[in-house]
Amino acid sequence: SIVITGANGQLGRLVIADLLARGVPAEEITAVVRSAEKGADLGVRLHVADYDQPETFKGAFAAGDRVLLISGSEPGRRVPQHRAVIDAAAAAGVAQLAYTGVFGGPDAWFALAADHRGTEELIRASGLPHTFLRNNWYSEMYTGDVAGAIARGAVANAVDPDSRIATAPRRDFAAAAAAVLTGEGHLNRAYELSGDTAWTFGEFAAEVSRQSGKPVAHATVTPAELTAILLGVGLPEGFVDILVEVDDAINKGALAGTPGDLATLIGRPTTPIAETIAEDLAKLN
Ligand code: NDP
Repeated sequence: SIVITGANGQLGRLVIADLLARGVPAEEITAVVRSAEKGADLGVRLHVADYDQPETFKGAFAAGDRVLLISGSEPGRRVPQHRAVIDAAAAAGVAQLAYTGVFGGPDAWFALAADHRGTEELIRASGLPHTFLRNNWYSEMYTGDVAGAIARGAVANAVDPDSRIATAPRRDFAAAAAAVLTGEGHLNRAYELSGDTAWTFGEFAAEVSRQSGKPVAHATVTPAELTAILLGVGLPEGFVDILVEVDDAINKGALAGTPGDLATLIGRPTTPIAETIAEDLAKLN
């Protein structure tokens, strides 16, 4: 069967929906979840396990399974967490271990990428047939706050006016995951998944403005100013440092690549940022 970890999350739910839409029978899909109650509406088989409790992965996988390890949500703790899944998958002899890493893979130097580099190394060392899904940023990371941007009239970050980022919405990355879990020819390959178009925050702000009819502009602040803003809204210091460094990585071009792997895997152009902005604006009305 096909086994998805992190299945109760936003990406995991979209992967399962995509697999079902492709005609994979529900009884051939297992969702690994922390909460069976929360996962009850997934409509597939459940296995309850926690990345922090390796023993809970006993029986999660069987020989020949195709597995998607969706990375955990606690930066800095994820290598030992993912190790629990990799060890269990190796012990079971799964046929494929797909992993949602970071755009750039081993070349992504910023702190947020460290867990992904470490996890890819563990997977390679396991000898398991694997597929690396190196996801660029989700468009929703930026469209999620269109209401705030409209209210402030500004999208403020430490990204330079001419720096670009090639995002795609979660559902595009989910479709790519479903494609590699159901298709052939994806073993021991790494895909650099990004949107077809790399955009600037000036373009992003202009599009929010165009669609909302309200003035919105991009404002580049210094890393120190961004740090103060993020601390001011209550984010913990360690996480603020990680986020500020992401803007530095964007300025250095780390998330601007458009190799086209995502469109190739999903068999259609990726969803433009304007469409995700429109979906978020629609939620406000
Ligand atoms: P979500 O936070 O919606 O989902 C994360 C899932 O991981 C949840 O279902 C959560 O379980 C599960 N999880 C977290 N910790 C554990 C654990 N200890 N044991 C078992 N399961 C656990 O994130 P998304 O679906 O949006 O994104 C998926 C992953 O992609 C993230 O976890 C993160 O690694 C990465 N990411 C990528 C971004 C990008 O822009 N490319 C942005 C943000 C994250 P539960 O439902 O029980 O809480």
